[in-house]
Amino acid sequence: MSRQKILEAIAEEITVCRRCKLWKTRKNAVPGEGSSESQIMFIGEAPGYWEDVKGKPFVGAAGKFLDTLLSEAGLSRENVFIGNVLKCRPPKNREPSPDEIKTCTPYLNRQIQVIKPRIIVTLGNHSTAYIFSKTALPFNSITREHGKFYETSILGLNVIVFPTFHPAAALYYLKYKEQLITDFRKLKSKLADEGLF
Ligand code: URA
Repeated sequence: MSRQKILEAIAEEITVCRRCKLWKTRKNAVPGEGSSESQIMFIGEAPGYWEDVKGKPFVGAAGKFLDTLLSEAGLSRENVFIGNVLKCRPPKNREPSPDEIKTCTPYLNRQIQVIKPRIIVTLGNHSTAYIFSKTALPFNSITREHGKFYETSILGLNVIVFPTFHPAAALYYLKYKEQLITDFRKLKSKLADEGLF
């Protein structure tokens, strides 16, 4: 089966998932989307209001800013994969619970194993903490860890993990907006150095 078909099969499972109670309040699950052949994956926290309505990742205000960041790094939604730690919206956009993360992340792990990205960009605390937990890297805080490239191994794959802030943080704090822009510039140079884009 092609990578694309395997990703579609995982997405179908996610769409009807009832492994945790979030299925009761969701309108749509959000499996993630993008290229199955992508060398780069972006991982956010969980769907928000508009993602839940549309079943697509990062389509609200934070997503618009992510689109700008992607385009400034020479990327587009079509040549990357964008997913989340949780596939269903927590009510009122509350933080994901440890149980929900534990129950849902086997889907993300499978997506990573199918796509085999060279670079994983983690957006925000939850995503970074989860991805770091799958490596030998100690996670302190996004403020300390962001903007650096961590050459590591995750799920048996050699990857570079690049943590940065969540684009939603940029909507509220100018300093995070500036740091995200700086981090995405670093990402652009790294992609060029690695010959990826
Ligand atoms: N925030 C996230 O972490 N993910 C989305 O898909 C949208 C907003």
